Amino acid sequence: METNSSGQTPAEILSDLGIREPDDLDIEAIALHCGALIQYKPLSGCEARIMGLDDSAIITINANSSPERQRFSGGHELGHWMRDRRTATFQCNEQMFVREWSEDNPEKRANRFAADLLLPARMFRPLSKDLPITFASAEKLAAIFKMSLSATAIRLVEYGSYPAMLICSTPKGRQWYVASSTVNGKLWPVDRPGQSTQATALLQGRTVGSGPQDRRADQWIKNFRADQYWVKEDSRLWTNQSVLSLIWWEDESQLIDLDNFEEESGSWRSDGRRNWD
Ligand SMILES: [Zn+2]
Repeated sequence: METNSSGQTPAEILSDLGIREPDDLDIEAIALHCGALIQYKPLSGCEARIMGLDDSAIITINANSSPERQRFSGGHELGHWMRDRRTATFQCNEQMFVREWSEDNPEKRANRFAADLLLPARMFRPLSKDLPITFASAEKLAAIFKMSLSATAIRLVEYGSYPAMLICSTPKGRQWYVASSTVNGKLWPVDRPGQSTQATALLQGRTVGSGPQDRRADQWIKNFRADQYWVKEDSRLWTNQSVLSLIWWEDESQLIDLDNFEEESGSWRSDGRRNWD
């Protein structure tokens, strides 16, 4: 096994292995390069775990999970191994994989590592160029990268061609969100989706038309004068208690007006809150 890969970034690992195409993203071979052996066993109570000693580790992935989940778990555990090696043992469950995007902790670092390794920006950006920010687009890309819809949708928001957000809502309101760099820190999602959104209908058990729909921006965005703009919404039930919504700006006038307004009024911000509050 290789012993000199500790601390390498996903981009460095892919470069070392000469991997340039999504088809070549073989998680087991990548793990071996990093000194970790992947094995599959039925697990209960967690999706995956890692036990490391000195320069090698064994990653055990739940054999009963979907292939997409298994791949992400492999990347996630490998992230623990490469980023937090001194903490030799991790046991990770499904909840952590997406919720933990919002905290800076070992779970977030492991998720980030998995996404950078298995949905690398360098491959993802050209494939997502000019695609609408919809679940149909995410599905297409998820099939190419053999990844889950949620992990791919996060990537589409981060690296797609349009300003966008992915927002997770439950009956209690917004749980977390991810925003593209173009809107992050400028536009703020409401605490719970508006009454005329697909998300609210889905959370109330009503059926809605599928595919993206035009929505007044104030149904999703709490910035000043949001009711004067439009966004596109594409929402899907994720678990039986939560809905994922892709929100995106095909018409960027809200952002352009905001930039102009900020220029006129100096360092004005709609509110001073951080993204992940
Ligand atoms: Zn973990």
